[in-house]
Amino acid sequence: MAKIIDGKAIAAEMREQIAADVKVLMDQGVTPGLAVVLVGEDPASRVYVSMKEKACAATGIYSVEHKLSAETSEADLLALIANLNGDAKIDGILVQLPLPDHIDEAKILEAISPDKDVDGFHPYNVGRLVTGNPVFQPCTPYGVMKMLEHTGVDLKGKEVVIVGRSNIVGKPVALMCLAEHATVTICHSRTVDLPQKVAAADVVIAAVGQPEMIKGAWIKKGAVVIDVGVNRVGEKKLVGDVEFVAACENAAAITPVPGGVGPMTITMLLYNTLLSAKRRAGQQD
Ligand code: NDP
Repeated sequence: MAKIIDGKAIAAEMREQIAADVKVLMDQGVTPGLAVVLVGEDPASRVYVSMKEKACAATGIYSVEHKLSAETSEADLLALIANLNGDAKIDGILVQLPLPDHIDEAKILEAISPDKDVDGFHPYNVGRLVTGNPVFQPCTPYGVMKMLEHTGVDLKGKEVVIVGRSNIVGKPVALMCLAEHATVTICHSRTVDLPQKVAAADVVIAAVGQPEMIKGAWIKKGAVVIDVGVNRVGEKKLVGDVEFVAACENAAAITPVPGGVGPMTITMLLYNTLLSAKRRAGQQD
């Protein structure tokens, strides 16, 4: 039976350390600050933003929310970002995605100063990750790496199979695993014989967005499974991309959904904001 990798517990432990580090920094006169920008009324985005603010408050990070109407122009949003780029109290800028259709998302993300880009989506930070010299790493994949580290998984020489190639999860997590000397295979919707690819993996990272599409029987005995997927089935139930109960029969360790990768994403946002504030205070990483 697989060991359950408890994302909530790992996140709680990390947040405790972050809060302690924030306190030390504040004693030195630097309060980490995060600006969260929300455009429009998307209910899921509002929930995420409020979770981020609560998490900031709980760790002592100063946060300020800019709630803009869905009709906000691209020019006004760019002006706000320019202001935040120049605001000495702000170490991190997060623009909640998705943005309304009339706003060019890429243009907005590129307007954020790379040294306040705590989401790690600016092309500069993407490039730094590709070249193996990251400055800010995107939160969800970074959270996956922290979970593997906490679980004691040494990726060196391991076969890692990632299912999903999005810019926010699949591709960056592949680069992070590569940096840890894993042999990485990235699968996607055109991959031929996915079961055979997954069966060869020492570590499976699923980021697809389809309920339980990775079958438990595909998982190699003793593999580690990280399930990033969050899929709503029915009214209230959430499931991952991996068939959890059946996968537990084969995996050595597995993340549940919910309570796995989810809690790590906001934790890594706090972590990146703290990192940015430490840099402002002239401290080395
Ligand atoms: P995307 O929709 O951007 O990407 C999904 C990927 O899955 C694509 O690369 C797609 O391939 C691939 N895919 C789709 N169908 C199949 C298939 N049948 N076989 C193999 N590959 C397939 O999703 P995201 O990366 O944004 O998110 C993935 C999941 O992770 C979602 O459930 C999302 O909710 C969750 N998520 C969770 C977070 C958290 O904090 N826990 C944060 C971010 C995401 P192709 O490129 O060929 O289309």
